[in-house]
Amino acid sequence: MFKRLRNDFQLSIITLMGIIGVLGITPYAAYRLLHNNLLVGVADVVIVLSTLSAVIYAWRTGDTEKPGLYLACVFSVAATLIAINLGVNGLFWIYPLILFNFFMVSPGKAIAATLLVLAGLVGHALREPGSVFESNYQMISFLVTNAMAGVLTFIFAYRTRIQREQLQLLAIQDPLTGARNRRAMNDELKIVASSKRRHGRSYGVLAMDLDHFKQINDLHGHQAGDQVLIDYAKLIRSCSRQEDRLFRFGGEEFLLLLPDTDAEGLETAAQNLLKEVRSGLRSPGGPVTVSIGGAILHAEEPWSHWLQRADQCLYQAKKEGRDRAIIASLTSLAATQALT
Ligand code: GH3
Ligand code: MG
Ligand code: MG
Repeated sequence: MFKRLRNDFQLSIITLMGIIGVLGITPYAAYRLLHNNLLVGVADVVIVLSTLSAVIYAWRTGDTEKPGLYLACVFSVAATLIAINLGVNGLFWIYPLILFNFFMVSPGKAIAATLLVLAGLVGHALREPGSVFESNYQMISFLVTNAMAGVLTFIFAYRTRIQREQLQLLAIQDPLTGARNRRAMNDELKIVASSKRRHGRSYGVLAMDLDHFKQINDLHGHQAGDQVLIDYAKLIRSCSRQEDRLFRFGGEEFLLLLPDTDAEGLETAAQNLLKEVRSGLRSPGGPVTVSIGGAILHAEEPWSHWLQRADQCLYQAKKEGRDRAIIASLTSLAATQALT
């Protein structure tokens, strides 16, 4: 439990604000219900219960986005009403609210929430002078300090978000070719295999290995080899569909994941790639070719087995002379299942 709180910043903030919200509002709810202020009392109870359910939802599902947005809305409305009711003493709650919103939702949404809260307060103050602020001077001071707090938090939240996105990208991307790395590949194939089970979508993979790549390194140097890999990844991306995903899972071994593709489509894609590489990829020593093994994901098949079938076809293509593609058929599925 503490590990989850330490690792998941959003979850820890939701939990903290949930506890503060529940502990802070429950006494008010009890007091109001006991003193027959039913309307406000019921509203308080609704806030307490919905806060509790948002926290439980976040813990159960691991999804902090929806409960975060929900709590940001509930707390923004609640803080505005409290400030309107209590006047100056309630205004202090707006500062932690700004921080909370920036922690929980995107910087754009948090700015919008902050502006709406301020507009609500100022609108009410202008309609009923003296109800929220004691003077215009106080109102302007409040708006200026809020704007400063908002701008500073916006800059911080925006930078943090960009850095987090960059880190996420670094964690899944191969720096040389820009293709996704092996970890991303395993994660994605796992998701695909379970989505096939649920939605019955058809997926294919092509495992691709450059032919005699070691020779390029040996004859022309590692840097020339690197350049071939960069050109190769670019070439595959340029001749595959936008929804296809390219992964680099070994030195010069790549995998292309093709959603909504049947055996025939996979064969066509493989032949097209062979042709494009043959005519478009060059090393300092001349043209470079690739060998390809492909397989369509079958229902109830574990993703590792699917990959293994594509790999066996790749091995077969190498054995049969390279610069060719072999796609696993249903019979080979039965054969590999018999072997394992
Ligand atoms: P085959 O046709 O049987 O695939 O022959 P091959 O020479 O391509 O076979 P192998 O898979 O044994 O060779 C892969 C080579 O790829 C070995 C390694 O030096 C090289 N390699 C792996 N990663 C990189 C890299 O990031 N950059 C460069 N330049 N070479 C790499
Ligand atoms: Mg090779
Ligand atoms: Mg290899």
